[in-house]
Amino acid sequence: MLPFIDLKAQFEIVGNDINKRVLEVLASTQYIMGPPVKEMEAELAIFTDVKHCISCASGTDALLMALMALEIGPGDAVLTTPFTFVATAEVIALTGATPVFVDIDPITYNMDPIQLEKALAALTGDHQGYPLPQSLTMEELKPKAIIPVDLFGLSADYDAINAIAKKYNLVVLEDAAQSFGALYKGRRTCGLTKIAATSFFPAKPLGCCGDGGAVFTNDDALLENLLSIRIHGQSDDKYNNVRVGLNARMDTIQAAVILAKLPIFEAEIAKRQVVAQSYNTRLRDLADCKTPLVPSGYLSVWAQYSIMSSKKDVIMTALKNAEIPTACYYPIPLHLQGAFSYLGYQNGDMPYSETCARNIFSLPMHPYLKENDIERICSVITNALR
Ligand SMILES: *Cc1c(COP(=O)(O)O)cnc(C)c1O
Repeated sequence: MLPFIDLKAQFEIVGNDINKRVLEVLASTQYIMGPPVKEMEAELAIFTDVKHCISCASGTDALLMALMALEIGPGDAVLTTPFTFVATAEVIALTGATPVFVDIDPITYNMDPIQLEKALAALTGDHQGYPLPQSLTMEELKPKAIIPVDLFGLSADYDAINAIAKKYNLVVLEDAAQSFGALYKGRRTCGLTKIAATSFFPAKPLGCCGDGGAVFTNDDALLENLLSIRIHGQSDDKYNNVRVGLNARMDTIQAAVILAKLPIFEAEIAKRQVVAQSYNTRLRDLADCKTPLVPSGYLSVWAQYSIMSSKKDVIMTALKNAEIPTACYYPIPLHLQGAFSYLGYQNGDMPYSETCARNIFSLPMHPYLKENDIERICSVITNALR
């Protein structure tokens, strides 16, 4: 079986350095908030060109910490897309706020700014104009924040989204869990909005050897909140807790792993472009096979290479028979998930997300995917569509 993501190929390149750095941490005995944590935060701040990087225990914690730092809570509505990993909306509910779903652009699969405007118009007056959570009164749905998601490694349209946010006085939190390292109009993700969250889960473009994540912001006041929330709401005095917080620190060992992987990350991003280009060239002219579109001015990090076809099941079965793994991100859009049934959304409320959830699936994608394997994968797909 071909690997879906080949972390072993990566370990052959950086394994020695990972081993060395991890052993150093073990010997140092500084397992919590040891020196590599600060060192990594400083490097990631430089990489993203953002003033503050606050590492944490996962991408989910990064999103949650960001919402907590923004003081989002009961009565607030937070707008996001239903075509994403569950964590994006889960954290909204965890704060006591309400997720309000905005349908995606069927070309990029990211939040559609036009739909966002419609949802905000509905929340702020024209209540019938867009499907909203049914179980709440409008007083319980005060729009406060937007969480666009950079799905599959491609940035959302932040110029458009930030402009709408400004008009409605909302804060934008970028879910960059899949797009760390990507570019939007020459700028890195994580630096495009007031605050951003990313993940270092092993399968993400920059992964550690376990769970990890980080929050990014240029805002000094938010930094102070985030540092406190990360460690039980502490103040300068560790045992003087000024707010309810979390235990959301990143392990020193994971920071050491990121430090070992960062030097090859840009080369890996370049390799991902070559893999994606090769897939594109071989697949884009097939009937009933929509390859990913990267608008001009964007650079995707290709967290996934996803194609859309009404013959998804036929293609996936053919690939499986050829021992080629595939994955479905995400088969049930969040507005139709049991966890969010309390919101009262209906089938048909988010038509583009629903169609994409039905017809999109992902092919093996990583920097070390070989040309002959891509060729083989694409010939299986071509034959399956005959
Ligand atoms: C992976 C992911 C998360 C959560 O990150 P974890 O590190 O797994 O907690 C959040 N949002 C999106 C879009 C993701 O892909």
